[in-house]
Amino acid sequence: EDVTPELPADPPAPAAQVAISSRERVVFPESGQTKGQLADYYEMVASIMLPFAAERPVSLVRCPQGRAKKCFFQKHDSGSFGDAVRHVPIVEKDGGSEDYLFVEDARGLLQCVQMGTIEFHGWGSRSGDVEAPDRMVFDLDPDEGLDFEDVKSAARDIRDRLSDLGLVSFAMLSGGKGVHVVVPLTPGHDWNAHKDFSRRFAEALSLAEPERFTATMSKAKRKGKIFIDWLRNQRGSTAVLPYSARARSGAPVAAPIAWNELKALKDAKLFSIDDGKRLIDRAASKSLAGWGFASQRLPDL
Ligand code: ATP
Ligand code: MN
Ligand code: MN
Repeated sequence: EDVTPELPADPPAPAAQVAISSRERVVFPESGQTKGQLADYYEMVASIMLPFAAERPVSLVRCPQGRAKKCFFQKHDSGSFGDAVRHVPIVEKDGGSEDYLFVEDARGLLQCVQMGTIEFHGWGSRSGDVEAPDRMVFDLDPDEGLDFEDVKSAARDIRDRLSDLGLVSFAMLSGGKGVHVVVPLTPGHDWNAHKDFSRRFAEALSLAEPERFTATMSKAKRKGKIFIDWLRNQRGSTAVLPYSARARSGAPVAAPIAWNELKALKDAKLFSIDDGKRLIDRAASKSLAGWGFASQRLPDL
């Protein structure tokens, strides 16, 4: 006799043991995903996200009423996060010290989601020594109307120029309009050297090909060009972390990609929070094995 099993009254507590309230609340109205689905996504990708996200001061994009309502960046504790959302004191420009947030595990990620977090942005250094950057990001921001083809060729050219300097780099789809070129670095230089290198690298590219690239933020100077946003590499700046969901239409995610895959892509929103399983499988695949890791020092420029 066929007996349909009775559903439990409450969904089982997720393995990360974080109670998620309002699981049915729609966070992405265009595509319909709920807060529960967002939490399940982060629970699923925690093991591949944490190697990049753990122990980094983070800025959270919180949208407690869903992505279509008010969202805000949060980098300091408001006292209401759970105990797995940890604090690291960081010296401010004025000499005072402020507590920044970081997570170490899936519980930390999920406690942020419980508080309405959609996006995780991270510093380029880790909480153990926030003054020693270990990751450089070139965030390619195309002017409106530019083709994604232009972004892709820019990313590859940046990879090649970095390679000329002896640096291995990796491509990440931002989940928005652009591509981030990520350069893992062995800590050992300070923020000044970090920022200086990235500024000079971006300026050299824009000097060499001024019709393609600009290294200045100004929208007016970006007309028809790609802004190589090196400003992500200043002390205190953040960049969206690999596997972070984006608070954008369709629930896209920031996704690592192999250089040889980039050619075929039409835009930077290939994956969404519905693709957790696929992303896990990809991360274990040959083409993405080792993505984001390299033992290399910042060269002189
Ligand atoms: P896209 O590909 O659409 O440009 P993106 O994540 O690169 O997506 P940007 O606007 O270029 O978005 O911003 C780059 C990074 O700068 C973000 O990922 C984020 O970490 C940081 N950022 C942007 N705006 C703010 C802000 N208001 N407060 C704090 N950090 C910000
Ligand atoms: Mn960008
Ligand atoms: Mn930018």
